[in-house]
Amino acid sequence: MPAFNDPTHPTAPEPVPFIDLVAQHQTIKEEVRAAVDQVFETQHFVLGEEVDQLEAEIADYCDARHAIGCASGTDALVLSLLALGIGPGDDVITSPFTFFATAGAIHRVGARPKFVDIDPVTYNLDPQQVEDAIDENTKAIMPVHIFGQCADMETLWRLSVRNNIPLIEDACQAIGAEYRGRRAGVLGTVGCFSFFPTKNLGGAGDGGIITTDDAEIAARLKRLRVHGDVGGYNHVEVGFNSRLDALQAAILRVKLRHLEKWSEARRQNARRYSELFRGLNLLSSIDPPVTAADQRHVFNQYTLRIRGGMRESVMQYMRSEGVGCAVYYPIPLHLQKCFEYLGYSAEAFPESNRAADEVLSLPIFSELTDEQLVRVATVLSDAVSSVTALQFPSGGNTERKAA
Ligand SMILES: *Cc1c(COP(=O)(O)O)cnc(C)c1O
Repeated sequence: MPAFNDPTHPTAPEPVPFIDLVAQHQTIKEEVRAAVDQVFETQHFVLGEEVDQLEAEIADYCDARHAIGCASGTDALVLSLLALGIGPGDDVITSPFTFFATAGAIHRVGARPKFVDIDPVTYNLDPQQVEDAIDENTKAIMPVHIFGQCADMETLWRLSVRNNIPLIEDACQAIGAEYRGRRAGVLGTVGCFSFFPTKNLGGAGDGGIITTDDAEIAARLKRLRVHGDVGGYNHVEVGFNSRLDALQAAILRVKLRHLEKWSEARRQNARRYSELFRGLNLLSSIDPPVTAADQRHVFNQYTLRIRGGMRESVMQYMRSEGVGCAVYYPIPLHLQKCFEYLGYSAEAFPESNRAADEVLSLPIFSELTDEQLVRVATVLSDAVSSVTALQFPSGGNTERKAA
């Protein structure tokens, strides 16, 4: 491929991928290889020493007393609900604007997802609406730290204490996020994390972990993941096979050592986008993500809002220019076919619907170069101008820019 600055070979700019796990792997290849080899030498593949070590290190990282590894983030949610005794006849309050697994886990244990709408700025649960929704059937609140920023946990914690109902953090996108100086995973009764490869701490396959300060809940989680066995084939209740593999634990332990640096790079990228968007006068057409003053965002996604019904066209334009972008999430959960039985009207959660129509996530991975960040911002700006020009062919674009 000819060089960029070769005037005899004008080329299209390099595409910018939405996420580049290969780039990250290149930086830790040897460490991962050594960790994997070590597991093969021992031939201990399920739970065992590596998983114990990872659990201790994650507990330490989150400042939790206990961490219990399991097979996925979804299982972390299911196991937590079961460990808290939630099942048929119980309602669990959660957000309709999240990955499917949040509400899927509630349904799976036989309980009922009770949705309340989100805050339009943070896309997290609106605590006032949570308060209004609590009734005698409410047996837990499951806030999601969406995109890597914690929900308004102090308000939710108060509701949880006052009503004596547990608080389950769906922290699957938020490892290392902080709320008033405390880490995700210790802001509720239990915290659930996912090691899916695209999460900030991603394994080489599925995996998950649960954090808690409660020794009894921790003990129950430990037995639920191994068929309810308390040791010596004594099954005190019926559980699951939801164990974490030693290979995953070994790889995750390597990656955990880099996590702070990677999250800082994501935050740095987010700051750079804000600066570029300001420079490009984009702030009348888009709303970049807002990090509250008392929060540390870890940007599993960098999700902005595109105003004026332009999201689909802007996304098409960016993709045609080779810039990766994606919509998380295009369909709120109350509109999913499988949740029709819950009986919500399509308009029940207007902010969730509006978010689903307007959000767009841009590349934010740690290894992005400044050249790539500039390219993404420039193409976004071109996309917005081009779509605005199509929408307002009689000079609306010029007026808009002058305004
Ligand atoms: C990824 C994710 C999950 C599920 O995690 P898996 O490991 O894929 O099962 C649950 N909730 C949220 C918000 C997620 O982002």
